[in-house]
Amino acid sequence: MESTGRTTEPGRPQPGEPGSGAGLLWLRNAQVYAPAPLGHCHLLLGGGRILWLGADAVELPPTLGAASIDLEGRRLIPGLIDGHVHVTGGGGEAGFRSRVPPQMLSRFTRAGITTVVGLLGTDDIARGPRELLAQTLALREEGLSAYAYTGGYHVPPSTLTGSVRGDLVFIEALIGIGEVAISDHRSSQPGLDELLRLAADAHVAGLMTGKAGLLHLHLGDGVRGLELVRRALAETELPPRTFHPTHVNRRKALFDEALELAGRGTTIDITAFPVEDGEDAWSAADALLRCLDSGIAATRVTVSSDAGGCLPCFDADGRVTHMDVGDSGALIATLNELLARGVPLQRALPAFTSNPAQLLRLPRKGHIAAGADADLVALDADGGVHATIARGVVHVHAGRVCRRGLFEAPTVAAAGAPV
Ligand SMILES: [Zn+2]
Repeated sequence: MESTGRTTEPGRPQPGEPGSGAGLLWLRNAQVYAPAPLGHCHLLLGGGRILWLGADAVELPPTLGAASIDLEGRRLIPGLIDGHVHVTGGGGEAGFRSRVPPQMLSRFTRAGITTVVGLLGTDDIARGPRELLAQTLALREEGLSAYAYTGGYHVPPSTLTGSVRGDLVFIEALIGIGEVAISDHRSSQPGLDELLRLAADAHVAGLMTGKAGLLHLHLGDGVRGLELVRRALAETELPPRTFHPTHVNRRKALFDEALELAGRGTTIDITAFPVEDGEDAWSAADALLRCLDSGIAATRVTVSSDAGGCLPCFDADGRVTHMDVGDSGALIATLNELLARGVPLQRALPAFTSNPAQLLRLPRKGHIAAGADADLVALDADGGVHATIARGVVHVHAGRVCRRGLFEAPTVAAAGAPV
């Protein structure tokens, strides 16, 4: 075995670094957005939770050995929840070399993300649920809160136990089904009955376990848009919350359909992918503003990154002409774009925090309160990530990544500067 002369495990904070262990940690002088503004607060973290927060500067006996970080008035928000991440890497649509590599820990934490939901996309054959679950659990071991969807683009879905219902009922980390593709040339062209069977399994498994129980639907560019979901709501007893369509901002007409569904109680998911001038698509910031101004309940929208997924462009024959990769930094960039346009932080935040937490049935996530998980992000004045704390442990401090995945390079700068 090669000796590196290291005295500490890679990715571990150095001894004495604030928040390096499971001990008590003070966050002093934070401007808290819970997402609602709570004003100037101090927070005491311990055991992975927020133990206390308040305006008074309480002192603890020194024997408790609490560490302390002074945030000097910076804005403190809940850790972002990214509900659509190809944690194994997605891709594979343009040959095996187009398979995107797995996403490492600090790609999330430096972008202020503390919870992810992993999934499989087009390639649910060379990749499978075992690899997805293993990568999800690896991210958990490294300190992130990570969950996954069973299945992938195609029907019948890839599963671990032989059925999607079995996967959701018996495997703790699996909380829904997805991303099942509809209105897309890469889909299995599922019919209504096939989609209903999946949605029913998701719903029933959600009832049995208290998990999200969602059918997370990838929407392609096809003109059929959300027709299958409208029919499902019209013809069955399934609650609207069961369906969680994503990429709904990829075509403007599709987005109008999605808004109409949101008015009926479905939560829609906006993807923070790059949108070029003149494209028939809404950027995530534009789409979220349209949602918030549309009169639908402000809780009925989430934003996700599609990180690790490839973003291919096809010609008329279905050949890939060029490829991008979805980036975790797209969420904080979208948030900053909204702030730059004058949207109050408390209005923009729920779609990235409390809304996905509610939809995913993760009651200790997505908000700042005593008893909640200590998943927190401090923002610099320019919107960059100053600090990321995941389950009470500091991953990014003073704009630098201080905790890395086992196979990551030692130095990675924090991200999130305004676009
Ligand atoms: Zn997709």
